[in-house]
Amino acid sequence: MSSVRFNALKETVNRKPIEIFETERKSEIFGRNVFNEHAMRQYMTKEAYESVMNAIEFGTKIDRKIANQVAAAMKDWALSKNATHYTHWFQPLTGATAEKHDAFFETLGNGSAMEKFGGGELVQQEPDASSFPHGGIRNTFEARGYTAWDPTSPAFIYGTTLCIPTIFVAYTGEALDNKAPLLRALQAVDHAATAVCKYFDKNVSKVNASLGWEQEYFLIDSALAISRPDIYLTGRTLLGHSPAKGQQLDDHYFGSIPNRAMSYMRDLEQESMLLGIPVKTRHNEVAPNQYELAPIYEEANLAVDHNSLLMDVMEKLAGKHGFRVLFHEKPFAGINGSGKHNNWSLATNTGVNLLSPGKTPMKNLQFLTFFVNTIKAVHDYEELIRASVASASNDHRLGANEAPPAIISIFIGSQLSAVLDELENVTKGKLSPQEKTDLKLNIVGKIPEILLDNTDRNRTSPFAFTGNKFEFRAVGSWANCAGPMTTLNTIIAKQLKDFKIEVDELIASKSLKKDEAIFNVLREYIKASKKIRFEGNGYGVEWEKEADKRGLSNNKTTPEALKAKVSKKSIALFEEMNVMSRVEIEARHEIKLEEYMLRIQIEGRVLGDIARNHVIPTAVKYQNTLIENVSGLKNIFGDEFKKLGKEQIDLIKKISSHIEGINSKVEEMTDQRRKANKLKGQESADAYCNKVKPYFDEIRYHCDKLEMMVDDELWPLAKYRELLFTR
Ligand code: ADP
Ligand code: MG
Repeated sequence: MSSVRFNALKETVNRKPIEIFETERKSEIFGRNVFNEHAMRQYMTKEAYESVMNAIEFGTKIDRKIANQVAAAMKDWALSKNATHYTHWFQPLTGATAEKHDAFFETLGNGSAMEKFGGGELVQQEPDASSFPHGGIRNTFEARGYTAWDPTSPAFIYGTTLCIPTIFVAYTGEALDNKAPLLRALQAVDHAATAVCKYFDKNVSKVNASLGWEQEYFLIDSALAISRPDIYLTGRTLLGHSPAKGQQLDDHYFGSIPNRAMSYMRDLEQESMLLGIPVKTRHNEVAPNQYELAPIYEEANLAVDHNSLLMDVMEKLAGKHGFRVLFHEKPFAGINGSGKHNNWSLATNTGVNLLSPGKTPMKNLQFLTFFVNTIKAVHDYEELIRASVASASNDHRLGANEAPPAIISIFIGSQLSAVLDELENVTKGKLSPQEKTDLKLNIVGKIPEILLDNTDRNRTSPFAFTGNKFEFRAVGSWANCAGPMTTLNTIIAKQLKDFKIEVDELIASKSLKKDEAIFNVLREYIKASKKIRFEGNGYGVEWEKEADKRGLSNNKTTPEALKAKVSKKSIALFEEMNVMSRVEIEARHEIKLEEYMLRIQIEGRVLGDIARNHVIPTAVKYQNTLIENVSGLKNIFGDEFKKLGKEQIDLIKKISSHIEGINSKVEEMTDQRRKANKLKGQESADAYCNKVKPYFDEIRYHCDKLEMMVDDELWPLAKYRELLFTR
């Protein structure tokens, strides 16, 4: 083993888990560093408190006088917790979070100073932040960017900084971030769903989308990761021979959590608790050194913020524990990748989960309404749903060699399939009394209240109904949930809006009763959306053929998938629902394409570097040893050396051919990169995808072969077995 690797391994093995002291109950520390309702009540006037609560619930504006009061209260609270700085915390289009800290501290001019924070600083800031991607929105100098307070996500203290969640918009009004469109989508779905709820319950005045994400990740020792420029710079391994033992034995999944990982998780959970992130579940995942963490679900905007915050906390804490956390969707070839299932549902302010079957036929009709509309929406916009999770890294999970196809389909389970099949046969128009009774008692009435046990069996579906929610499983572990949540809630809003119009028309023009009209429309939806439903093995090749016959899209790569974002249909959708303007959509599309191109470009460069600067020199060194050996044999044994040194001579030749392979392929790849760099937008992304990326596997092939030939003593890069099995 090379000394670099040996020392790294020694460091890894000798690391002790950090001791974590949990002296208080979770329920006691939960939300301690959050300016939540409890803290607001304590620090704010009644007037200010009510004003903020109204803003949260109904989106009402907060006037300047109140904003000053809120700011003063926030400052007092933050200072009581030893905060020294504040920041507008926002989510630019990089997908990560951004912050620029300012001290509360101000000088007063007479040599003294005090802590200050007013309504002005709370409500709006101009961080400039002109280096974030904006897709052309800020090309004119007037288009300054500013951040504006989002009162629906509470401020929190992280470290010694008061963080105020904000949206990030251009002076011209266009959103420059992920949060603003999400908030608009959530408002759209609220309006549309509330209107539909009125058919069933007049008391409903608000519908919240909820989100419960499940974050998968790998923990790799940082000393080992350091020897791998690919892990450091791209978040994944670009080469590495598969180890003799991988995940064949399934012995990691739900196994006992290794001590160091456990200590990391406990630390992370404490920090999450303080920040009000309700993390609940932790376990080992399928791959070695892979784990999962899931919270209790929350209102979608808050859940999205919490996931972004958590990912940030995870990276920071990993350093403290001697780990590097990998969010990449496929850090290791041949080993399971990571996803981030987005569990989604809709809930009313009267406390009803609209995707949970109820006790009465009426409740079940409401459930069916939202259930069928969701299926219809995903059916109509399947390409857009696929586009919403497209990224260079997630391409490894969708549509790649070892991955399931990139086809969007919905799994609902056999019981609900049977219900929908029966509903398909409902008579058109008016129903006879017999039929009504039959429907209510025998079809709708028979939807079991608890579906949970029967629905969660198919783990291969990208979009599965799991008893009381849909689980959008195609979301990548590295993704910001805002993108997929914006798309999903927008298409649902549009669908529910159309549904309401159709039902109302039937009631008015054909004088159908409300239930009859609902059944009629649902029946048509069930028929129209049949092709999106698939109960079989979503990972099989047969499904690809079948889906093709059905006319479902199968966009395997990001450049291909992203096209749906800027289609006429997509622009019409987002504009109609007031979620994004054409300019905002096109800007995001441009940014996504560019990000794709840059990520592949970086991977190509890193791979080229490692292959030439690490792999080839090592191979040459070993080859020299072999050559010395052979010439020594020749000196001693004369012509007999050919027989005695046969293996070595073969190896020398093989090494040469792999070195040659690497050199020529790296050269060709570099050439293609140069060409791709001259192109722009779609063409550049296409070139990186189809002309540059295919070299990765070829170069890797030669490198991995050399890894198996070269003396272990010389190999400088941490091997798969070391990265995956040390803890
Ligand atoms: P798994 O998918 O691993 O079997 P569960 O189905 O128990 O796990 O739950 C996964 C996630 O679903 C959790 O984050 C949970 O909070 C979330 N969840 C449960 N109910 C809902 C709901 N009504 N809306 C959104 N998310 C939910
Ligand atoms: Mg799940």
